[in-house]
Amino acid sequence: MKYYGDLMSSLIEELSRLPGIGNKSAQRVAFYIVNMPEKNVECLAKSIINARKNIKYCSICYCITDQDTCPICSNLKRDKTTIMVVEDAKDMVAYEKTQNYKGTYHVLNGVMSPMHGIGPESLKLKELLDRVRINQVSEIILATNANVEGEATAMYIGKLIKPLGVKVTRIAHGIPVGGNLEYVDEITLSRALEGRREM
Ligand SMILES: [Zn+2]
Repeated sequence: MKYYGDLMSSLIEELSRLPGIGNKSAQRVAFYIVNMPEKNVECLAKSIINARKNIKYCSICYCITDQDTCPICSNLKRDKTTIMVVEDAKDMVAYEKTQNYKGTYHVLNGVMSPMHGIGPESLKLKELLDRVRINQVSEIILATNANVEGEATAMYIGKLIKPLGVKVTRIAHGIPVGGNLEYVDEITLSRALEGRREM
């Protein structure tokens, strides 16, 4: 793809490495970028570099943050005795949007996936066990996705936690709700949380 010269080709190539961006979309975005005011392009480039350089993981729950401890872990009103285990920070945000959950989270930043060489040691499980041991945790809610990898990860964590005498629950999945589409996701998530079962 050298039709546009080296500079444009390399921009298209870099953009097409991003998830969900195929070659056509990469071309579209590249053309959009080169036609943007230079000042805006500088802002975009700076925020990408800044985010990459300065983003850290919360020292308690391992969600992405720019502080040592994320706003949820440092909020005194959150119930520290309940921990919801999620695959990534995006899932955490989805549950936050329901405004129905007042506990804390533990972000695995992945799931077990033998096909991709991701074993339990790649996830933040030791850290989760430490949290359970040190704090007076009364319930662990396993909220990994309902696919094969998510289920296998939930089963594995359940087996690790149960011997510690803590209640382990798994959220319910796939309860479709009619009505206003805008709220379906939040309602589905809230119901999945309310319908959780002990493992
Ligand atoms: Zn945190």
